[in-house]
Amino acid sequence: MRRTRIVATIGPASSGDEVLQSLLEAGVDVCRLNYSHGSPESKTELYERIRSKEAGLGRPTCILADLPGPKLRLGRFSGVFALERGAQLNLHCGVPEMDNASSTDLPVEYAGLSAELQPGDPVLIADGLVRLVVNSTTGVPSGTVACTVEDGGPVSARKGVNVPGTMVDLPAIGPNDKAAIAHALEAGADYIAVSYVRTPDDLRPAIAAVKAAGKHVPIVAKIEHPMALERLDEILDLADAVMVARGDLGVEIPLEDVPVAQQQIIDGALQRGMIVIVATQMLETMTFNPRPTRAEVSDISSAIRHGATAVMLSGETASGNHPLEAVKTMAKIALAADTGFESTDRRPSALARFKATRSVAHAGVELAKLSDASRIIVATQHGNAARLVAGYRPPTPVTAVSNRIRAARRIQLLPGVESLIVEEFDRGSQTMQTALETLVAQGTVLPGERVVAISGSPKAISGATSTVRLYKVEKDGSIRGAE
Ligand code: PEP
Repeated sequence: MRRTRIVATIGPASSGDEVLQSLLEAGVDVCRLNYSHGSPESKTELYERIRSKEAGLGRPTCILADLPGPKLRLGRFSGVFALERGAQLNLHCGVPEMDNASSTDLPVEYAGLSAELQPGDPVLIADGLVRLVVNSTTGVPSGTVACTVEDGGPVSARKGVNVPGTMVDLPAIGPNDKAAIAHALEAGADYIAVSYVRTPDDLRPAIAAVKAAGKHVPIVAKIEHPMALERLDEILDLADAVMVARGDLGVEIPLEDVPVAQQQIIDGALQRGMIVIVATQMLETMTFNPRPTRAEVSDISSAIRHGATAVMLSGETASGNHPLEAVKTMAKIALAADTGFESTDRRPSALARFKATRSVAHAGVELAKLSDASRIIVATQHGNAARLVAGYRPPTPVTAVSNRIRAARRIQLLPGVESLIVEEFDRGSQTMQTALETLVAQGTVLPGERVVAISGSPKAISGATSTVRLYKVEKDGSIRGAE
């Protein structure tokens, strides 16, 4: 069974009804909606379309809302311009849209940039594909930055702009992010990813908005800025999950340092039993080609071997020519890595939050090993108890038991965990017994097998996680407590 989860970015190449259906069938566990692009209306439609697939698939769908963050972008203009090495180019800062853009004049949304740049500073466009160097910041009209193209390439509207080494004075959560959070919460996003996190405080507005809405949506910290690496421990202590956002990270720090940073982030997440998504350019050449390179296959496989719980597709599924082949390829690589590499005992350390629930989860995972159980079932109200069990990466398959579809949707991002919706009874043991009977009836658990149940009290799902039980399924399918 594949344990590693696949996150796919849904964009123009994958948002149509049929292609979306085929991607979900091919193994997409989580649909990433990028709030940097598209209107709120089109997003609402997409949420509805993704949710409408649940009945046919027979499993929940999971949506990760990715906030725009303080990312600098070119403004809107038509066409694609080829920038040539050595050419002169004016960046017009504070211009959201330009009718007469050309290969010598391009708009940049953020007005403050001309004041923050200095002659000699690098400006990178499109994840660093195009590199400019600033000549002067005092061009006419004011806000015009004169640059020379050092590395040329094609540029189109809304491409990302990075200014490594320049401190950009934009809040982590600006007006666009606030609107995106409000939309995501209203539309029912299962995870919210905060972009360009620099300090732990950058996570707080999103955490507060989720709390104020009375929701339990976990927050994913995207690590893509060098300052976040300096404060990684504090960020991981506050976030629920983390993403190695290699696109921007690889522009903000030297490319050769990205694999080291990736492992540092994965290790920090493992210590805390957290979900860790490795993202960007995982199958980049499949944007145009139907087959990946050996290096791409190796990159995905290594990320999984080194502890990633999820791997992500970006442009490959959002705007590429072969979205379905990309998902199928990633699913095959993940399955081969999950089955081919020996599972390592991952034991979150004392750094981890939720100490009481985690201790009970740990007891359940250990009991499953000692009793040779075929499955762990864990009752979970919002998905947290299941997340903490998954943090131990038990070799035993896990079923998360909940009476809430929202929790079941979140489970789709947990490695090696399936979900089951059940009714919750007053007595915790009755809920777990019923869940187990359902698994036996489905053939998921077989006669003769032992199962560890982790649950809350007094009620299994809504009570605080406190109880570990061992069950045995008899030859006639009846269930009894085991020694
Ligand atoms: C990245 O930079 O790798 C990333 C995932 O962020 P985004 O594509 O949203 O800029």
